[in-house]
Amino acid sequence: MKCYNHHDRDAFGICKSCGKGLCLECLKEENGTILCKDNPKCSVISKKCCILSFLSFLLLLTILIMMIID
Ligand SMILES: [Zn+2]
Ligand SMILES: [Zn+2]
Repeated sequence: MKCYNHHDRDAFGICKSCGKGLCLECLKEENGTILCKDNPKCSVISKKCCILSFLSFLLLLTILIMMIID
């Protein structure tokens, strides 16, 4: 697979949001997730995912605390 922006370069990773191949210059890593550096849409999705995982972590914590109290 070649980089979506540079057709002469091999892709180093694949964006988890849009599935495009990205070279080292075009990708960025956020919390272990590879995303397009220059695509704002991909960043927004990753932020949403972060909030979701944080909320599910809080929910899990609440359930644990309730179990301990009971
Ligand atoms: Zn590239
Ligand atoms: Zn992307």
